[in-house]
Parts: sequence; C-alpha cells; structure tokens
Amino acid sequence: MPLRISPYFWTMGKITIAIDGYSSTGKSTIAKQLAKSLGYIYVDTGAMYRAVTLFAMQNGFIGGAAENPGALVQLLPKIHLKFVFNDALGYSEMFLNGENVEQEIRTLEVSRYVSKIAEIEQVRHKLVEMQRKMGTEKGIVMDGRDIGTVVFPDAELKIFMTASPDARAARRYKELLEKGGNVSYEAVLKNVRERDFIDSNREFSPLRKAEDAIEFDNTDMGLKEQYERMYHFALRIIEKS
Ligand code: C5P
Repeated sequence: MPLRISPYFWTMGKITIAIDGYSSTGKSTIAKQLAKSLGYIYVDTGAMYRAVTLFAMQNGFIGGAAENPGALVQLLPKIHLKFVFNDALGYSEMFLNGENVEQEIRTLEVSRYVSKIAEIEQVRHKLVEMQRKMGTEKGIVMDGRDIGTVVFPDAELKIFMTASPDARAARRYKELLEKGGNVSYEAVLKNVRERDFIDSNREFSPLRKAEDAIEFDNTDMGLKEQYERMYHFALRIIEKS
C-alpha cells in the first residue's frame, strides 16, 4: 500500500525521523531503506557507540584483565569518528581514527561490551553533540536508543521498534552466521537480553519510548510490510509540513 507521492514532494520541507528501539529489532535495515527512498541522510548511532567500544577494547579499558571503563573518559578527545559513504555498498561505513572499522564493530565481542560503554555520561555527551550537528539541516533518519527522547525530542516522526527477544535473537544469529561468525544461538539471545536490561536501566538517557512515538512491533512482520508502513507514516507528515 505505498502512498502516491505528490508531484510537489521534492519541493516540500524536510523532516527529522527518529527510530529507537530494542537491540536487533531491524531498525537500521528499515531506516536505511527509508532514507534512500526519501533522499535523506541515514545515521546509525549504534555504530558510533560500537566504535568507541572498540577503541576501549583496543586500549585495554574493557574486556581485559584490568577493566576500567571510566578511564576511557580521559582519552575521549583522541577518538575521532567519521561516517564515509561507500558508493559500491550504498551505505556509510564507520571510520575510527582514520581506519575503516565497519567489520570489527559488528562482532559479538563488541556487542558484549557496548552497553557498558554507552552507560558512561561523558561518552553519551560527546556522541549526542555530534549527532545533533549531523541533523541541523533535517532530512535525516537516525536510529538508536535515545533519538526521540534526547537527541531530537522535536523530531516530526518518532518510531519505537519492538519484537520478542526470540525473534530478535534469531535474526541477529542468522546475520552473524552469514558473516562467517562462530557463535551459538544461546549466546546471541543472552546478549540481546543483557543489552535490553542495561540499555533500559542505565542512569543517563535510558531506552524509553517517547510519549509521542509510534510503537511498532515487528515480531511477525516481513521487511516489505515494515518498509511500506514506515514510508506511509513519513509521507503523511512530509506532505503536511
Ligand atoms: O544499534 P546497535 O545495536 O548497534 O547499538 C549498540 C549499542 O549501543 C546498544 O545496545 C546501546 O547500548 C548503545 N546505543 C545507545 N544509544 C544509541 C545507540 C546505541 O546507548 N543512540
């Protein structure tokens, strides 16, 4: 049921689209597709928290014998993050201090530690500031955990995605296997549940549905239906703006 685009669509004002939700709900797949069809920028804020986590792991602040995630704060000014658009792939890749880390940040190991790093107030402060700068011109689809509540509380369209933990773990497990990972389904499910818990209970910017967000449960929904519904929500708002 895709909406017919008004002939004036491309002259209309641009909006900000905030997509939040639990881990592995497929936020980035839908957000990427939506941004492409609207001609908007897509920003995966999870990639930013993952890159900071990779830096913390490389420097022994987390994941080693003498863990001290708090000590990472001193080195925050030395962390330079950049999204670089890859024409061949059709999406942006994350660069950490000049190096393409797109593969490394998607491993289960990084997933294991990322929520601990994302709890640190100064880390959130730095990344939220960068995210707000990326969205000053609107015309952006951003996904994460606090986009509709903290980063862009005035976003014109806010979506909050949910799905059962089993459905999410099954999707993430399939994705990791396809990338050649050697993981068990149980380990992926455990990670999904742990991240849900930490993300929802942390002190700073916990994962919450914004009051004005549309709740979107995709447990039993295919990609095509999800995309069409989101596209419909977006067009309705853009055509009124
Ligand atoms: O979206 P993704 O699963 O890649 O995010 C990885 C982790 O980064 C989340 O589990 C969460 O701990 C953190 N995150 C966050 N705030 C965001 C985006 C991600 O705390 N806006």
